[in-house]
Amino acid sequence: MTSPFVEVVSRSSLRERVDQLGAEISTDLKGEVPVMVGVLQGSVVFLADLVRSMTIDLEVEFLSLTRFGHDGQIGIAMDIADPLEDRHVVIVEDIVDTGLTLASMRRLLEVRNPASIRTVTLIDKAPRRIVEVDLEYRGFEVGDEFLLGYGLDWKGHYRHISSLWAVMDLEVLQENRLAFAQHLGIAP
Ligand code: 5GP
Repeated sequence: MTSPFVEVVSRSSLRERVDQLGAEISTDLKGEVPVMVGVLQGSVVFLADLVRSMTIDLEVEFLSLTRFGHDGQIGIAMDIADPLEDRHVVIVEDIVDTGLTLASMRRLLEVRNPASIRTVTLIDKAPRRIVEVDLEYRGFEVGDEFLLGYGLDWKGHYRHISSLWAVMDLEVLQENRLAFAQHLGIAP
């Protein structure tokens, strides 16, 4: 039987690509002090690696979102402490799927009059996009497989797994959320 879990991006490939993104953003924003805005909780692992590969001064802030229903409507559950007026903002996302979350978030931040807004996402699920949204930097482009690890979760679990995995059969996880932990040999 084939495994329902497949490693799709290794730890070393993640490190290499994140370093490239960090270098690219640092070049583009040379002379500025960007605010790197992490979207909780999915972006935490990526953001931690990304900012450490950057070579310019910067600040880190976090936002937490609430979702209403399935049409991507969002509100801010936990806001950024400082104003963004005249600042260069870089939204740090784990994954952009339909694009609804990112489109709403860009609108929420644009009204604060930042000097610029860019987005960096680790994963771009481009074929699943419903709304067009600007995406300046992407780590990897994927199809429509469900991914886990490196910040991405299943019911709050598996964010700490250091490589990226695709779930080939989601029913396995729906029936037993520990199935991936068992696969990795870390089940309690
Ligand atoms: P969007 O509004 O772009 O459709 O949704 C983005 C959100 O959907 C992400 O922040 C993430 O929470 C969730 N999501 C989309 N695809 C995946 C995936 O493959 N794995 C996980 N764990 N979450 C996903």
